[in-house]
Amino acid sequence: MTYPPLPEALTVGVYDNHTHLEHGAWQPSGEPELLDYREALDLASSVGVKGVVQVGTDVASSRWSAQMAAREPRMLAAVAIHPNDAPELDRAGTLDASLAEIEELAQRPRVRAVGETGLDFFRTDEAGRPAQFYSFEAHIEIAKKHGLALQIHDRDAHDEVISTLLRVGAPERTVFHCFSGDATMARLCAEEGWYLSFAGTVTFKNAANLREALEVVPRDRILIETDSPYLTPTPHRGQTNASYMIPTTLRFMADHLGVPDSLLAAVIASNTEAVYGSWDDEPVLPDAPSELPPHPLA
Ligand SMILES: [Zn+2]
Repeated sequence: MTYPPLPEALTVGVYDNHTHLEHGAWQPSGEPELLDYREALDLASSVGVKGVVQVGTDVASSRWSAQMAAREPRMLAAVAIHPNDAPELDRAGTLDASLAEIEELAQRPRVRAVGETGLDFFRTDEAGRPAQFYSFEAHIEIAKKHGLALQIHDRDAHDEVISTLLRVGAPERTVFHCFSGDATMARLCAEEGWYLSFAGTVTFKNAANLREALEVVPRDRILIETDSPYLTPTPHRGQTNASYMIPTTLRFMADHLGVPDSLLAAVIASNTEAVYGSWDDEPVLPDAPSELPPHPLA
């Protein structure tokens, strides 16, 4: 497991609104080394990435996210069942119970989003899709009921994600995590007031669609993320991603738009706070557990 070198620090601080730090915390011993979540946050702060949204993908990682955010000032949490997990839970008869746990976690302090949820037609076949739709709609309802932002995972399912949001009504703050559409879709999302979160994929050579989307989306709808440990930006593809790589993607985006890095960082920081609220405005629980919750597979 190798990490890219630290990029030069940003002069204006920004946030990584989608990362999975539990991978480092839960690493079985003997595996190639992933950054511990504290190291990952320290390195991020050192280059101007002042906070992250830690995203759960199942009940265990969502619980970890809520517990860690409660005691870590640089972390807010998002909680959800990943769309690719919904069919299996449905087959096991535990999807509703899992959704109820997600709703309980969604009401914890410093949990500011429901996600990642959505539709994934790349990894889930026809048979699993009804469960995926059911789970997506349940997450949308949880976000609306508790006034939280929604983080959407949309893989090869643009039309169905959009039509679902329009049919049931999107939460007030809706984010397309790792936006993967084109300029037409970007315009449509912006008209609905939805946010587009750009990941390292925007730097990929074959991703002209993402750069066209970036060009047309209003600046006040742009967010940035790593989705680390995945999706490392060019020229470091093949290495492991971490939140400290945000400056690399941000500089690429600023260059592409022809604006100074500091301006784009300021705009994105303000957009991010508009979606999730401030990282500082809710005290971290002094009595939060100091022990890491155990690895669910240990
Ligand atoms: Zn993710």
